[in-house]
Amino acid sequence: MNLNTNYLKLNESYLFSTIAKKVNAYAEAHPDKKILRMGIGDVTLPLAPAVVTAMQRAAGEMGVKESFRGYGPEQGYPFLKNAIRGYYAARGISLEEDEIFVSDGAKSDVGNILDIFARENTVLVPDPVYPVYVDTNVMAGRKILYADATEKNGFLPMPDENADADIIYICSPNNPTGAAYSAEQLAEWVAYARKRGAVILYDAAYEAFVAEKGLARSIFEVEGAKECAIEFCSLSKTAGFTGTRCGYTVVPRALVRGGVSLNKLWLRRQTTKFNGVSYIVQRGAEAVFTEEGMAQIQENLAVYRRNAAVLSACLDALGIFYTGGRNSPYIWLKCPGFADSWKFFDYLLEEANVVGTPGSGFGKNGEGFFRLTAFASEEATAEAAERLKILFSK
Ligand code: PLP
Repeated sequence: MNLNTNYLKLNESYLFSTIAKKVNAYAEAHPDKKILRMGIGDVTLPLAPAVVTAMQRAAGEMGVKESFRGYGPEQGYPFLKNAIRGYYAARGISLEEDEIFVSDGAKSDVGNILDIFARENTVLVPDPVYPVYVDTNVMAGRKILYADATEKNGFLPMPDENADADIIYICSPNNPTGAAYSAEQLAEWVAYARKRGAVILYDAAYEAFVAEKGLARSIFEVEGAKECAIEFCSLSKTAGFTGTRCGYTVVPRALVRGGVSLNKLWLRRQTTKFNGVSYIVQRGAEAVFTEEGMAQIQENLAVYRRNAAVLSACLDALGIFYTGGRNSPYIWLKCPGFADSWKFFDYLLEEANVVGTPGSGFGKNGEGFFRLTAFASEEATAEAAERLKILFSK
């Protein structure tokens, strides 16, 4: 028997385990120090009350014979798909119900979508980036090209006509850089993909953080995108669903390659390998899209936005280069006085007792950069900003 030896080609990811080890060792040696964890990639505020009430009600229904539900539609219940349609329609994007596939989060679908593409395709992935895009393609043995995201291009790489890519990953607002594309910039990617017959896999997990006009929240804001793009979205960061698990993927009917509908292929894949998201969770997700739910999730998002603004203002005052912070929960800064992200990590831990994430963990172009997040408490964020100010204005 033969194993998939592509798995042996994966880079071991020691990023978060090394961070934990270093922080634990420091905490043990300095029990008197208050360590501020600003590297958290998970939300910290609870679910909205409207979501909790909807899930409680749904759990009650499951305990009554007349309203009990067994297997649901693999693609999601129509009540949730219609709520998602409404969410897009409010932004002027019209979707059909069967173009929406409810999932247990963006991570699964971003990985699983590769089932419908042949191994022979070449993928284009930005560097630095969310490691899942690279690892899932290494597992499949696909050739990977990298689009360099650097200080020079504001961490927003644009199409390179010489890059021979079939599958293009775009994550905007980006994890880890926080950089977000404008609709005009995305239009260039759409034109590039259409010209090549390529498919864009657009990760919009952080769309809810986009506040500025002109920046895109969906690739479908761009004309012609339905003929070349699939969009992944998640309620994880939007509505605190990291532990509850719900997301959705949009595969437009107009997306056809070689005469074959990608929507049909994905439907076939999902009905074969996926049995849907729990009814209770889908009722909770539906509540996110109600007027009440939307208002409540905005309260949590406002806290994270304020945190991001506090950290950005601190870096502005210190004259430190960064991206993100404005339309993203991530702040991606150039390590002041350090070319090595890990050395900066150690310095910040020891001198300010502040923890972040070394940029080199997200790709070679992340070296010399550092990710802070806006998910900590308001108090911890204010204190971290104060400590940075004191340390770097010395
Ligand atoms: N996409 C990006 C860019 C992310 O940063 C994350 C989570 O950190 C995900 C997708 C995964 O989201 P989900 O919780 O919906 O699986």
